[in-house]
Amino acid sequence: MEPVKVENITVAYHRKPVLQDISFTVPEGKLIGIIGPNGAGKSTLIKAILGLIPKASGEVSIYGKSYSKQRKLVGYVPQRGSVDWDFPTNALDVVLMGRYGHIGWFKRPGKKDVQFALSCLEKVGMKDYADRQISQLSGGQQQRVFLARALAQDATVYFMDEPFVGVDAATEKAIISLLNELKNQGKTVLVVHHDLQTVKEYFDEVLLLNMRMIAIGPTDEVFTIENLQKTYGGRLAFLDQGNAMIGQN
Ligand code: ADP
Repeated sequence: MEPVKVENITVAYHRKPVLQDISFTVPEGKLIGIIGPNGAGKSTLIKAILGLIPKASGEVSIYGKSYSKQRKLVGYVPQRGSVDWDFPTNALDVVLMGRYGHIGWFKRPGKKDVQFALSCLEKVGMKDYADRQISQLSGGQQQRVFLARALAQDATVYFMDEPFVGVDAATEKAIISLLNELKNQGKTVLVVHHDLQTVKEYFDEVLLLNMRMIAIGPTDEVFTIENLQKTYGGRLAFLDQGNAMIGQN
């Protein structure tokens, strides 16, 4: 059964449609890049799938059932910029939030949960920062803490919104190897990504989006100049054979 099935999703903000009739399914155990220009509706698509914003129409299923029934199977890493990092809390508490789906909101996390959260921090190289206020972490460290929280969710399907934004090369490497580790455990990871140069290297499959679905499928087949042109239009510049990047305008 498909980890994610989206049928005819349409989303509008203030009556202006930003996603039109999006349908796709994703295969299990793959890293999938969601690619498209700024304003294409990539974040909106994830938020609509997770029920964070209302859909004008359409259905989503996670392993054959509605998201609300499968919530525990789903992990989410929002854009780092969408969070108030001045909120007074430390790295460990942020990661423990990932456990609430398992603990229940009104119970205190037990020793096991704390141990698990610490092991997640360790996985992203942040164990030594467990007690650190999140406002005092660098952008890359904040992103690592977000990933640790997603690991703490112990999900089967992950949605990550631009996890590589504002991180240094070392953190980017650490993140991609973590994503591959999740994939090797049979998990499905969908990642909003904007660096066209690394798409072929990072992702098994790509979903090209610009308000409408342009294409989805194995990267080798779908990540073509022709499809990129359909996705980015005039904003695309070509460097040499097979290499494309987003131009100035
Ligand atoms: P992407 O992630 O591909 O850059 P978004 O999903 O953030 O695109 O945005 C898609 C479109 O929806 C853009 O035109 C954006 O301005 C608009 N939009 C996003 N969030 C809101 C909101 N909360 N209210 C109104 N318009 C929004």
